[in-house]
Amino acid sequence: MTPDPVSDFALAAKAAVAELDAYLRSAIAGEGPVVRLRPLREIAEGLDLERWIRRGGLGGAVYRDFLASYLETTTRLPHPGYMAHQVAVPLPQAGLAGLVDAVTNNPMAIYEMGQGASAMEFTVLNWMLQKLGFATMPWPGEGVPAAERGGGVLTHGGSLANLTALLAARARVAPELWRSGGHGGLAILVSPNAHYAIGRAAGIMGLGLDGMETVAVDARGVIDPAGLEAALERLRGRGRRPLCLVANACSTAVGLYDPLPELADFCERHGIWLHVDAAHGASALLSRDTRHLLDGVERADSVVWDTHKMLQTPALCAALLVRRAADLDRTFQQEASYLIHDKHQPGIDFLHRTLECTKAGLGLKVFTVLAAAGEAAMGEHVAACYRLAHRAWELVGERAGFEAPVQPQANILCFRHGEDDALQLRIRDRLLAEGRFHLSSTVYRGARYLRCVFMSPNTDESIVEAMLDAIEAAAASDG
Ligand SMILES: *Cc1c(COP(=O)(O)O)cnc(C)c1O
Repeated sequence: MTPDPVSDFALAAKAAVAELDAYLRSAIAGEGPVVRLRPLREIAEGLDLERWIRRGGLGGAVYRDFLASYLETTTRLPHPGYMAHQVAVPLPQAGLAGLVDAVTNNPMAIYEMGQGASAMEFTVLNWMLQKLGFATMPWPGEGVPAAERGGGVLTHGGSLANLTALLAARARVAPELWRSGGHGGLAILVSPNAHYAIGRAAGIMGLGLDGMETVAVDARGVIDPAGLEAALERLRGRGRRPLCLVANACSTAVGLYDPLPELADFCERHGIWLHVDAAHGASALLSRDTRHLLDGVERADSVVWDTHKMLQTPALCAALLVRRAADLDRTFQQEASYLIHDKHQPGIDFLHRTLECTKAGLGLKVFTVLAAAGEAAMGEHVAACYRLAHRAWELVGERAGFEAPVQPQANILCFRHGEDDALQLRIRDRLLAEGRFHLSSTVYRGARYLRCVFMSPNTDESIVEAMLDAIEAAAASDG
């Protein structure tokens, strides 16, 4: 008997929900390891992956057992000991959005392929534009000249959003390059602590390493406004002209915010595009306690804001927001006649604003999360994560043998035990093997540090204390 695919789906989905419910409860309670690293081959063979592909039939009643085995291989983000990477612990309701998006599959880059998801993207973008202090997009067909208003688009991740931002800047500064190609003698002014996505974008755009002019930073690694004029001189001395200045809000390694008002002053003085890479840190706009960190962002030309970091949205979802919609509308100056043509429609297409052609219903995901939590609770989540990093910094300071090089501004804390670089990695490995705590590690000012990113509503001060105890124990038994 051939199973009916729809009832098969319903059966498997019901089992999956029960399994995921148990998963969430056990992970949040801190039962079992946060992660257990095993060899890839062992996992592939244990799950019998090849055989499933050859034979098919993974559905219905058998799905539950398989899912239970798969969940054993996951890094359990809701576990209180998860403090490793800048990846959201999703609001459980986000799972529903993922399910609905997958079942309906409305890739809404053109309006006729996903009207509700388009309306959600439009609404979420306007909400973000307001938070930034940019003008919102008018309703389609309202007759308001949209070009001078703000604009934006949701994309699959901050890396793509940053590339699009640099392309938007280029379309403004040197529109002829779309046809002629080449770097046109452009270079970006950039912090040495920018995310590597910026360097990759510059590489993709053909700017080369010569097209990246590093600006001076202070002792903490934050852009020093006093060094900007000299950086511009150096850039010009090499026969280049500025494409944009890229600011961090906040930086990846230690989570520090560049001084946006001073950077905006400099950019205004010289007519330079200001791009604020706020992939991680823009969500601080949602809380009265943390909003000040982004003072001056309203003067940026473009801003990247990931929702899959601090807004509890599952990967991937990022926003690129621009002060003038026209800048984004002319970024990709191509025509795809079968998609982009004069058509009478009651909505808008986002296709011309993104690198993606087919694009998931990202607006559905982020809307579902925001609507479940409400913006005030989401702001409190961000502020609580930031507060916990600050508290952890104090706790580290109270213990002998520990050192934290910078006071955190966001939810990222770097610290170390002792002076030995290699010891930090051994401590991390030891903690991973024990399975109670998952930390990351970074190099900061030439030295190796342990790094905590507090992303989880399930992590609190007592977990931090227990983590520091575990580090002391690991260091004591080292060697
Ligand atoms: C995470 C991050 C990125 C990269 O974004 P993805 O969504 O991971 O592609 C870029 N810049 C900053 C500052 C980030 O924190």
